[in-house]
Amino acid sequence: MDKFREECGVFGIFGHSEAANLTYLGLYALQHRGQESVGIATSDGARLQVHKAMGYVADSFDEPTIARLAGMSAVGHVRYSTAGESGLKNAQPILIDCAHGEIAICHNGNLVNAQELREMLVSQGSIFQTTSDTEVLLHLYARSKAPTPEQAIIESVSQAQGAFSLVFLTKDRLIAVRDPHGFRPLTIGRLGDAYIVCSETCALDLIDAEWVRDLEPGEVFIVGPDGEKSIHPFPPARSAHCIFEHVYFARPDSYVFGRSVNEVRTEFGRRLAAEQPAQADVVVPVPDSGVCAATGFAEASGLPLRMGLIRNHYVGRTFIEPHQSIRHFGVRVKLNPVKSILQGRRVVLVDDSIVRGTTSRKIVRMVRAAGASEVHMRISCPPTISPCYYGVDTPKRSELIGATHSIEEIRKYIGADSLGYLSLEGLLTGVGPSRQSYCTSCYTGQYPVAFPRSEAAHLQLALKLVE
Ligand code: SF4
Repeated sequence: MDKFREECGVFGIFGHSEAANLTYLGLYALQHRGQESVGIATSDGARLQVHKAMGYVADSFDEPTIARLAGMSAVGHVRYSTAGESGLKNAQPILIDCAHGEIAICHNGNLVNAQELREMLVSQGSIFQTTSDTEVLLHLYARSKAPTPEQAIIESVSQAQGAFSLVFLTKDRLIAVRDPHGFRPLTIGRLGDAYIVCSETCALDLIDAEWVRDLEPGEVFIVGPDGEKSIHPFPPARSAHCIFEHVYFARPDSYVFGRSVNEVRTEFGRRLAAEQPAQADVVVPVPDSGVCAATGFAEASGLPLRMGLIRNHYVGRTFIEPHQSIRHFGVRVKLNPVKSILQGRRVVLVDDSIVRGTTSRKIVRMVRAAGASEVHMRISCPPTISPCYYGVDTPKRSELIGATHSIEEIRKYIGADSLGYLSLEGLLTGVGPSRQSYCTSCYTGQYPVAFPRSEAAHLQLALKLVE
């Protein structure tokens, strides 16, 4: 589907006899944050061991593998590649042994100065094993002369800029770090005496753990033999929580940045109905991304909500395409229209975003072909006009239809009778009183952390799409 893609989910647990198993379950709950590779590292108090694989969590671990991952503490990672090519060598946790002892790292985010740091390290003799931006942190850590692993982590992370929610595992400590802007989420939970850190609260729910609080931006949270401690070693910075977590990435059953994703997303839908009403008979979500916003839209507009598109949840990565052309095949393998709901009706289709426009165009055509008399597309965020440099996979600006086309041009391209987006003001009001603490760069093109000039090439505009 034509979506921005979250790149990673992280999980860590300290002080539980089933550390590897609970990490496996936590990653299972975080699978939506990355589907290309998965890994778990554990510590038995003396040594660390790791298992990594390409593919889904459920396909990558079996009972003997989990049983081999012995120990009372563990970290885990699901990955969709952003910085660094895909492949097992870039899968995380990355485990190294150095003067500070063994350490495993899991990273959600993107370091905007990774290339610069890497060039500096290579020029001084470092040999890299991956193309991932995360490895630079380990090189900085290994070179640090700080007296303790904690201080070496702080010294190395202090040199990084950009987005990082990090979970480290040493032989006897779990250390979590969130960047001073707090781009990506990271939250703390408890399960009996055990401590957990993870990307979203849905991972806590699955293992019956209790939510405690979010890590604060710039916080370093350490759990070890002497209990927990928290320090704030970095200079304070303007908060820039990724608003796209609320629009699309996070699971609706999670609490992210202190708010229920379901509630925020439903409120976006209510505001969308107020800002962009439609004369229609029925509200239909594009599943699953549009469901919460469509619920809010239906509630505020008084129109019935019906599941006029059904998603096939069991689409594999590869399937055998038909030799003969089947209309809308690519999208139909994932979504199928319910004719009894759509036929003869004026339909409001609600989705969370339009990135390139190609999928929306196919869906609108499919809904019309199923008999809808009118199709009114409503999007629960503003047009996405700029790429993300903080750990989200986005096309370059020239491929973002919102950057190169007016709303009327997009409407024509996707073939809808009308098209309406939620305004930036509506989006910021929808997230609640902490509206100043969000990053909205992909809607505004204004970036809270500068990125390297080489990346700026992605901002160039290209030729407009043609029919
Ligand atoms: S640019 Fe967009 S996707 Fe990236 S962190 Fe900011 S709000 Fe999130």
